[in-house]
Amino acid sequence: MKLGVMGGFFHMMSTDNAPNHRLCPKGPTSWCKYNRALANNQTTPPHNPTFTPDIGKYVFPVIKRLTDTKLLRRCVKMTTKTRMRVSMPRFGSVAQSPNLPTFPQ
Ligand SMILES: [Zn+2]
Repeated sequence: MKLGVMGGFFHMMSTDNAPNHRLCPKGPTSWCKYNRALANNQTTPPHNPTFTPDIGKYVFPVIKRLTDTKLLRRCVKMTTKTRMRVSMPRFGSVAQSPNLPTFPQ
């Protein structure tokens, strides 16, 4: 999972001059158009980077924290979701719906 998230990060920063798809899934059914084209012996599509390396240096620490092994273990155990369920009644008077929070008037 960690490598998948990191792969997505580097995929989004890839450019035609600096493609970085080594962590993207490989094969003819990959979601990564670049690796899919390589697997199918086709011309690789042009890149349309989501963000530049300048922005990436600010995004990377967030990605790194989100892919922390301890955090991912807690997510797999669903303890984070359980804590959210436990804390929701505290905010029930403020947020009427867990999906559509409202602000106090
Ligand atoms: Zn890719």
